[in-house]
Amino acid sequence: MIEKINQAAKSIKNAKKVSVFTGAGISVESGIPPFRGPDGLWSRYDPKSLDLNFYLSNPKQSWKVIKEIFYDFFGQAKPNKAHTILAEMEAQGYISAIITQNIDNLHQKAGSKNIIEFHGNSQRFVCPTCSTQFGVHQIQINDSPPICFECKNILKPDFIFFGEDIPVAAFDKSIEIANTTDLMIIIGSTGEVIPACNIPFLAKQNGALIIEINPSSSNFTNAITDSFLQGKATEIMENLSKQISKNT
Ligand code: NAD
Repeated sequence: MIEKINQAAKSIKNAKKVSVFTGAGISVESGIPPFRGPDGLWSRYDPKSLDLNFYLSNPKQSWKVIKEIFYDFFGQAKPNKAHTILAEMEAQGYISAIITQNIDNLHQKAGSKNIIEFHGNSQRFVCPTCSTQFGVHQIQINDSPPICFECKNILKPDFIFFGEDIPVAAFDKSIEIANTTDLMIIIGSTGEVIPACNIPFLAKQNGALIIEINPSSSNFTNAITDSFLQGKATEIMENLSKQISKNT
């Protein structure tokens, strides 16, 4: 494995434009479980709470689940080593952008700057009626769904619910990155969520080298991955960053 990590470190240093594509797996070691799998959130909660039409017609019922997962639970989480190393690598000029499917705000907390929030962010709210946005600190999180200060209708967290489109700016920026990156690092994603999973495929199609970090194989591994660094995000990222600084 160390030889593979060493080779990956060299490729990262030689690449002109390195991008990163992250999924729920990078936040598992911060205590946030993924949605899928035996310990995943969907084994405990009903995903229909995150269906937009269901939320709008049953806000109280949905909000109970949303509050518990995304505010009582995610709110306590802190960035782990994998998040902080990515932020350091960006500051050192090795990484140009992170496209994240995550909505937990942990890349932002770790200090990464160029983050494309493909599925939005739980730390903002938006009004489906008048489109006004609010930061989580402006909102009183309690047992009732939050209300828009402007039009008094129900707010929703500013992340994608089932049945919603990807934010246009994030989608366009991700396509641009996939068209221009020459190395993409995929961390902790099953590659099962459409259309996010198409981004690494597009990067590969445009000639990018694909490095993947995950304890288990994914939909990417046998299809597009050039170097599979099998293991937990924190362990692999710590070894990778050591090799990068050794090779300077
Ligand atoms: P997923 O839930 O489908 O899969 C998680 C992946 O992470 C799996 O491949 C698993 O093997 C891997 N993994 C588990 N532990 C890991 C570790 N320590 N290090 C590295 N990888 C590890 O995740 P997904 O592909 O991102 O899709 C889920 C969707 O749900 C996303 O679109 C995302 O928006 C959302 N989601 C977000 C969060 C979050 O914001 N933290 C949490 C759950 C789900």
